[in-house]
Amino acid sequence: MLEVSDISVSYGQHRALSEAALNVERGEIVVILGANGAGKTTLLKAIAGLLPCAPGKRVRLGGRDLSRVAPHDIVEAGLALVPEGRGIFADLTVAENLLLGANPKRARASEVEQRAKVLGLFPKLGERLKQTVRTMSGGEQQMVAIGRALMSRPDILLLDEPSLGLSPLLVRELFAALRVVRDSGVGLLLVEQNARESLAIADRGYLLENGEIVGHGRAMELQSDPAVRRAYLGGLAGV
Ligand code: ATP
Repeated sequence: MLEVSDISVSYGQHRALSEAALNVERGEIVVILGANGAGKTTLLKAIAGLLPCAPGKRVRLGGRDLSRVAPHDIVEAGLALVPEGRGIFADLTVAENLLLGANPKRARASEVEQRAKVLGLFPKLGERLKQTVRTMSGGEQQMVAIGRALMSRPDILLLDEPSLGLSPLLVRELFAALRVVRDSGVGLLLVEQNARESLAIADRGYLLENGEIVGHGRAMELQSDPAVRRAYLGGLAGV
């Protein structure tokens, strides 16, 4: 469904990403694991069309070439990003944020139906529709951010560290919701430092080190790979 290749990004002299390539199918969760500064955010932003890349970048979604398409048209094509820091409108209410999420043409006609799906996924949001997002907890704000992205009816959802700052219990709740999104047929590309929890819900994973994809595999294989355990799982047995 989503195929990207040859994504290279530099910030001035600093090469943050070198010829990254990956794919995500509908109905699967793919996690990108990497330490601080590995280039995870850069990769998601580059896929979403938000960063200038070196020539040669290829982004294809459902067979359509999006390599040179503007970010808002990438959303129209079915790719939505939940950025780090959430990217929500903190001074607006939950209902207003969800409505804005349905602004792309692909989503307008099905706004009511999509909103019902989002509120089914995150029932807490249904009780808080009139609440200003700024006054909500971190976990609730993350739900708003994901809900808003889902309102655009994406085929592929990109999520940048959704577990950041959440308690272990909330992370589990959130990841359970991501499974439901996956089972509805959406493909999820998840960037995470929380390797243990994200590998537990993922189907596949890629390892990003210093801007290069250095490994990939089924999530279960990665969980038991000694090098992955040392680098990302604290070397603990019995994961
Ligand atoms: P983290 O988990 O800490 O957010 P990350 O894996 O998402 O890290 P990126 O944010 O993609 O990493 O950054 C990759 C590299 O590019 C880092 O060395 C970072 O310092 C650098 N970088 C990112 N954004 C910029 C920028 N706007 N200007 C200069 N350098 C940048």
